[in-house]
Amino acid sequence: MSFKSSYLQGVYNSVSARNQGEPEFLQAVREVLESLEPVVERDPHIIDTGVIDRMVEPERFIQFRVSWVDDKGKVNVNRGFRAQFNSALGPYKGGCRFHPTVNGSVIKFLGFEQIFKNSLTTLPMGGGKGGSDFDPKGKSDNEIMRFCQSFMTELSKHIGPNTDVPAGDIGVGAREIGYMFGQYKRLCNEFTGVLTGKGLTYGGSLARKEATGFGTCYFTREMLTQMKNTSFEGKTVVISGSGNVAIYAAQKAFEFKSKVVALSDSQGYIYDKNGIDLDVVKQIKEVERGRISEYAKRVDGAVYTEGCRGIWSIPCDIALPCATQNELDGNDAKTLIKNGVIAVAEGANMPCTPDAVEEFLNAGVLFGPAKAANAGGVATSGLEMSQNSMRYSWSFEEVDQKLQGIMKGIFDSSYAASKKYGMDGNLVVGANIAGFNKVAEAMIAQGVAY
Ligand code: NDP
Repeated sequence: MSFKSSYLQGVYNSVSARNQGEPEFLQAVREVLESLEPVVERDPHIIDTGVIDRMVEPERFIQFRVSWVDDKGKVNVNRGFRAQFNSALGPYKGGCRFHPTVNGSVIKFLGFEQIFKNSLTTLPMGGGKGGSDFDPKGKSDNEIMRFCQSFMTELSKHIGPNTDVPAGDIGVGAREIGYMFGQYKRLCNEFTGVLTGKGLTYGGSLARKEATGFGTCYFTREMLTQMKNTSFEGKTVVISGSGNVAIYAAQKAFEFKSKVVALSDSQGYIYDKNGIDLDVVKQIKEVERGRISEYAKRVDGAVYTEGCRGIWSIPCDIALPCATQNELDGNDAKTLIKNGVIAVAEGANMPCTPDAVEEFLNAGVLFGPAKAANAGGVATSGLEMSQNSMRYSWSFEEVDQKLQGIMKGIFDSSYAASKKYGMDGNLVVGANIAGFNKVAEAMIAQGVAY
């Protein structure tokens, strides 16, 4: 599809020429540029500032070798990345992902999205993202520790509490953050809030672990009440993934009196018509680091099916894709719509393909895009940074209250922008424009040579 604005078409052409073979990054850029059509039309002056041309190019992109020794004494080599995309609003902020599919395109797409997401939170954070193609699956604790230490040995040269503050993402949880924090402290002789998602004994924030999943449900609650005058109560919910985001989205969905009937991992999905028993899931995934298929062996009446995509064939009112990018395509969207879905919110980053998003919007399904719906994680990371700076901790309830306020604010500003720019209720456009406007204003104020 081509752009209406020849200027935006030119920006996109130049990004695709410069970033060949990077489909995820181009997909993310295209979606944002499409949303900016009404902005450029209304305010052509924005073109002269060059702010859009600048925003699509990372301020800095770091790639490095991570070598480490496994338990058998063999030397392994992985690739590490950090995209420091935009620092107009504050220090770069965004997670690190450890997964074999990680490459420059994935890190750039995630870093680019992070700019607008962080802007939407209203907290002072720029956008960045990092990670490695290291696969934590099947590795011993000692191997994980040695990898994290090696990764941080290089990364430490590029980050700092006022420069760039990484966090977790797929494959990076409290254990990995702990090992990286320890290594940073050894290297820099500094106990500082350089990472978020830390353990509670050394500067972590209460409610950080729960924040992304809880936040996705808080955002969905706003969509349901403000746009459809309904609630979670009595609804059937399907959630993909069974990691950090999925588990805590499920917990909040149950607290909101809906019934979560399915979860998945990269190999398959479970269906439990009685409602998933989350204690069993937490034992399998958080304690044993096992497969979701285990659930069906332990809970009567639950069924496991190979292949994660089939999860979208389960009839539900609310679908929360919380696993990974492009996990729900146009056909899956059609199936969900046929089965009566009324709301979809992205707990994962870019889990719905562009044709899936189009299907949902055309069918009038409420759709919460990732940069708005899953911003609760980074928002609470921002709150962790504030607590670290103050050398103080808020209670779980205090953090959760602030999180709820932030998620409502994100919904309100996205919804308002969708109306202001003539796309009433299109939260994809609304979130992109609301996030963009603030970053653009800060970049213009700071001049071209930063
Ligand atoms: P985790 O590593 O905790 O969990 C990821 C889950 O997704 C696992 O259950 C994994 O299964 C599953 N999965 C991976 N690939 C696929 C696939 N192709 N199909 C189905 N399931 C798959 O990661 P998080 O929960 O932290 O992150 C999930 C998503 O949420 C990511 O897109 C991340 O970027 C996003 N996100 C995370 C935030 C956070 O605070 N953690 C904040 C904002 C966004 P398996 O074990 O088999 O690999």
